[in-house]
Amino acid sequence: MLCACMLHGVTLYSYLTRAHRPHALHETGRSVARNLSVDLSAPVLPVTYMEAPQAAGQDRDYKFIAKAVDEAYRAVESGVGRPFGAVIVRGDEEVVSCHNLVFKNTDPSAHAEITAIREACKKLGKINLSDCEIYASCEPCPMCLGLIRLSKIKKVVYGAKAEIAFAAGFNGTVPDAFIEYYKKSGIEIRQAEGEAARIAEEVFEKSKDKFRME
Ligand SMILES: [Zn+2]
Repeated sequence: MLCACMLHGVTLYSYLTRAHRPHALHETGRSVARNLSVDLSAPVLPVTYMEAPQAAGQDRDYKFIAKAVDEAYRAVESGVGRPFGAVIVRGDEEVVSCHNLVFKNTDPSAHAEITAIREACKKLGKINLSDCEIYASCEPCPMCLGLIRLSKIKKVVYGAKAEIAFAAGFNGTVPDAFIEYYKKSGIEIRQAEGEAARIAEEVFEKSKDKFRME
């Protein structure tokens, strides 16, 4: 049987790897088109609906990780802290974006995530951030994961792996047991993919002449 997908110019590979659901979706589309008297002989662009949700997720990740990365550069350029940034998001709206302030506050706990959670709580007037997500330029450390849990944030997306920060001289390791513990407590923790991870990982190399270790 010839699938409608074949008529729409989709490659054989796509056809073979997207067997059933695309066909059903196409048929639905064709039925709708028929009812609307749409010209089905018109050329149709290659199907993108299967990629769309993932691409949308990656775009969203990139948007907020890029903001966190921008915060990381601000921390070192202004001399107030180390190259780490974090953004708290509610729905699709940014609540706050912050960076590391350990030097400005003379406070070793003033990590970007801690600062962002404190600011978000103040701004929203509550200590329960269960309707928020946090985007961090780098994988959060155990201290930050602890506060993320206390604030009831349910989703953490980070750009660079902690190992990259560690290689740059920071106390960056996060034991797997910590990650597993927080995942089991219901927090989604994952690294952003593609370009978002790349721009986050290059922060340390690009800012190495500007940040200080002490
Ligand atoms: Zn931290």
